[in-house]
Amino acid sequence: MIQADLHIHTVYSPDSLIQPKTLVDQLAAHSFIKVAAVTDHDSVRGCGATVELASAYPDILIIPGCEISTPLGDMVILGTDELPPKPWTPEGVVDFAKSIGAVSIVVHPFREYGMGDLARNFKVDAIEILNGGSTATVNNQAKELAKSMGLPGTAGSDAHQLSELFSVCSKIDASMSVDAVLKAIKNGSVSAQVTRGSIHF
Ligand SMILES: [Zn+2]
Repeated sequence: MIQADLHIHTVYSPDSLIQPKTLVDQLAAHSFIKVAAVTDHDSVRGCGATVELASAYPDILIIPGCEISTPLGDMVILGTDELPPKPWTPEGVVDFAKSIGAVSIVVHPFREYGMGDLARNFKVDAIEILNGGSTATVNNQAKELAKSMGLPGTAGSDAHQLSELFSVCSKIDASMSVDAVLKAIKNGSVSAQVTRGSIHF
């Protein structure tokens, strides 16, 4: 069983302060979260930098990804080091993810920039049911959405600064490889967990 923060922004997102090195240092120091997905806004530039830094640590794993701003709401793709072709529609994101074996996720559906119930119209792989930047109320709505769609639910901190890292995590029944993690999420071998206060300042 691994524990992963599946939604993190680095400085390659215009609104984040987290340096790739900070993320890698925090993962290396953390007692149980050893896997993190880099999901910058409309960019994959943070992934390469973070993956390279993480390669010095055999016990941590970076999942490359991005968070795409579609006109209907934000979507995360896990398992890509390239952006989907434009235009960035929800269907386009789903098709792109499928074509490369990546995972498509509707994130924070009931928060600002969320897709809400429109998510029901798209064949995404999962719904983010626990977002570290969202209230319990909207996270519970997301959980209900995932349940009613029969989809796996993921968790991610959506951290934009150090203090927000690893506030929640996904427990995934997988080995330490990107392919294994993606496959386990698609199979539903994932659950969401709150993990407050585990950052090393
Ligand atoms: Zn985000």
